[in-house]
Amino acid sequence: MTPLELFHHLDKDVKVVTKKAKRSQCVKPERIEKEMKRVIAWWSGGIASAVACQKAIELFSSDYNVEVVFIDTKNEHEDTYRFLDDCSNIYKKEIKVISNEKYSNIKEVWRKYNSLNVAKGAICSSQLKKDVRVKYQDIENDYSQVFGFDYSKSEQNRAKNMLKNYPEINPNFPLIDFKYTKEDCIKEVESWGIRVPLTYELGFRNNNCFKTGCVQGGIGYWQKIKRDFPEKFRDMANIERELSIKNGKPITICSDQSKGKKVRLFLEAMDEFPDVLDISSKKGREPETLMECNGFCSTEEQLDLFDDILTEIKETNTLNLKELRKK
Ligand code: SF4
Repeated sequence: MTPLELFHHLDKDVKVVTKKAKRSQCVKPERIEKEMKRVIAWWSGGIASAVACQKAIELFSSDYNVEVVFIDTKNEHEDTYRFLDDCSNIYKKEIKVISNEKYSNIKEVWRKYNSLNVAKGAICSSQLKKDVRVKYQDIENDYSQVFGFDYSKSEQNRAKNMLKNYPEINPNFPLIDFKYTKEDCIKEVESWGIRVPLTYELGFRNNNCFKTGCVQGGIGYWQKIKRDFPEKFRDMANIERELSIKNGKPITICSDQSKGKKVRLFLEAMDEFPDVLDISSKKGREPETLMECNGFCSTEEQLDLFDDILTEIKETNTLNLKELRKK
């Protein structure tokens, strides 16, 4: 399926087909003459990408060389490597592991850039995921890249952003094609007879960077880390303290946007910044589902698309994604 076809597929006006019907209608890529081009299926350690990789193997293996690749941040929960071996056995295929060798751990990134999680996204995601992915891809010779975006509205929007902003990588999203939610992915992985990553069993809704905890996790996620993993929480509170004092301004993981304006929140209050509250000032909440980290968390890219959509709606009073895609 080309990016344009998939974009049309994601258009809400396109007729909805059932999961069963969709499976049988699945468009097989056109056979490329001469040599087999590569399809990179990105395995991220979470259940969504695990299922997407399996779908990529089913869909593309007869016509393309499907590589399953994991970009290791070296900041993963150790059970991620057990899950990797289990998935590899299910796929009957090696999962290639690559990393940014410039850094031996994620804290080096945060310290180098004096940054944790800002409006543009997380610097660690950009350095440890995006840069590695861009270096590894081969636009000229790859047919497609496959991502585990699920069938939730937010991830469908992200898929649209990616199609608009990165058409050259010809992204594919089998979970959206097959209408797989995160819950469907958990059932699918369990149907393979293997355990989901331990972090899901611990009550988190992702398996991102659990060695330190993920800076994109949000208030509910960090409230849970504080309750269940106090040492991890203290360690990251100390990182916030170190960077904030060094830079003379609050550098935080969390922020509150409930009143429209983004308000920074520390994990633990600091005497040096008495005006900045900490996450205990917010009502207790559960961790939200978090996108698997692949270096596409920049809100700048999302705003770019939303601006276009808003202009489109203003000018035509309709939302025509098909035309928008051609721009
Ligand atoms: S999973 Fe979270 S902490 Fe890890 S690289 Fe991505 S944004 Fe950073």
